[in-house]
Amino acid sequence: MTATQKNNQVTNIDAVVIGAGFSGLYMLYRLREAGFSTRVYEAADGVGGVWYWNRYPGARCDSESIYYNYTFSEELYKEWTWTSRYPEQPEILRYLNFVADKFDLRRDIQFNTRIKSAYYDDDLNRWHIRTEDGESVSAKYFITGVGCISTANIPSIKGLDNFEGEWYHTGHWPHEKVDFTGKRVGIIGNGSSGVQAIPVIAKEAAHLTVFQRTPQYSTPAKNNPYTEEFIRQAKENFHEMKKEVRASLGGLPIPINNQSALEDSPEERRKAYEKAWEAGGARILFAYNDLLANEEANETASEFIRSKIRETVKDPETAEKLSPTYYYGTKRAIIDTDYFETYNRPNVSLVEIKKAPIQEITAKGIRTADSEYELDAIVFATGYDGMTGSLFKIDIRGKDDVSLKDKWVNGSETRTYLGIATAGFPNMFMITGPESPSVLGNMPVAIEQHVEWVMDCINYLREKNIEIIEAKVEAEEAWSKHCGELADSTLYTKAESWYTGANIPGKARGFQIYVGGYGPYRDKCDEVANKGYEGFSLMSSSKTTVR
Ligand code: NAP
Repeated sequence: MTATQKNNQVTNIDAVVIGAGFSGLYMLYRLREAGFSTRVYEAADGVGGVWYWNRYPGARCDSESIYYNYTFSEELYKEWTWTSRYPEQPEILRYLNFVADKFDLRRDIQFNTRIKSAYYDDDLNRWHIRTEDGESVSAKYFITGVGCISTANIPSIKGLDNFEGEWYHTGHWPHEKVDFTGKRVGIIGNGSSGVQAIPVIAKEAAHLTVFQRTPQYSTPAKNNPYTEEFIRQAKENFHEMKKEVRASLGGLPIPINNQSALEDSPEERRKAYEKAWEAGGARILFAYNDLLANEEANETASEFIRSKIRETVKDPETAEKLSPTYYYGTKRAIIDTDYFETYNRPNVSLVEIKKAPIQEITAKGIRTADSEYELDAIVFATGYDGMTGSLFKIDIRGKDDVSLKDKWVNGSETRTYLGIATAGFPNMFMITGPESPSVLGNMPVAIEQHVEWVMDCINYLREKNIEIIEAKVEAEEAWSKHCGELADSTLYTKAESWYTGANIPGKARGFQIYVGGYGPYRDKCDEVANKGYEGFSLMSSSKTTVR
């Protein structure tokens, strides 16, 4: 059955998917292929998800292009050719448009439409989804592909409305070029987005002032154009690569050295880190197996990177200010092109806002506790309300009218089963939801695994005439506990990061990501499916338990 409702008539379809990024596009492809009527809702006027919005200068992915792909179609993989080691935002957006065209996906995507609410009707066993424009649709399955880091965090700093210049957030960058030529620009934030934007803006602006709260580790990306020969080999290697990324811990076929950093002498370690530094990207994280688990081991990598900062930044005082003290890798490992070198430019200055906090944005610029900085433009590279932010923007209500936000006590008690489902919300699936491994690796690999698992599950339900699937409370309690215990065995929980919710004032702290790795997680999900969806209640339309 298809047809969307307009003029107060409710449309019935099999599945509603929210978001037309990597997740939504592939989910649509699979649902349609399996014969389910599907509608994707997307707030933007095009496909791409985060890559539609993140158009800031220097925006690039930190996964290598040949792995930052769908792998479900060999034909697609071979038809598309990346130009360089790390794909730029415009290229990724072109890729996703290419995918949408190739599989004729747009005809089932409703663009410029934001979903306001999704309610589960317990009597009818259906989801009622309402758009901000008041349109309604009813679906058996409700699937979120809203992204883990797509709800912008714009800090509420007094006076922003009074600012007479322009201001931007990296995640909501205008479509047209923003020209900073001759301007005094201030940038707040130096995470992955800021570290990419800073060198590019510095080249254009008259002056760039970086307002830094926490210094960050970053390692050189060593980006370079791909040669024809490299691409030919990558395409030839498709099947092997696909197998490797799917079994790997982080969705990349990069072997981890299965040895403690403390087993090597300081000289051997230095050599290993130098090699990883030269190889580019976040290879240092793969140099030893205990960098994210052992403080002493981590300190060896952290200190290596600090030594590189001191070597690169000419002014020792600035180098010191740029040197982080948290455990490397416990905030997202950043890779860059000329980030630390940029601080050697005469038109760049660094302001430590932990020492002198921002007090106000004035008509003319930013006033900190000890100075006022006149600016023509302010860039917020201040990140996102991660993991739960985009889910909570929609009023999602399950059985007994309980909202997801209330069930998860605003994020402080997030409970999911496998990061895919949550008790009380039947027939709802989250692609890369909280407590899945998602952001701790190469996202397309995580997304494909989720989409394929959800598709297999829906096919199974159809085959067995099962109307309702719902995670059991005890299964999600056990999964959440397991996720928490795994996270606590690492250093991740020691950092103040968006991973832990520390970046959003008032947000509950917790580590809502499965740290056990993509491959082991895939095995666990497969095991659940192979055992007839163990941990889920499966019911007929009359709510008789089938299993
Ligand atoms: P982020 O990593 O959360 O960094 C935000 C930055 O803004 C941090 O420096 C943070 O300081 C600062 N900040 C936040 N709130 C602030 C406030 N109220 N006052 C002053 N400073 C504040 O955000 P992001 O850089 O946008 O990156 C988010 C994630 O997106 C990344 O971790 C990554 O997963 C993904 N991403 C990936 C790429 C890539 O593939 N290369 C590029 C961009 C983004 P503190 O550190 O003190 O909190």
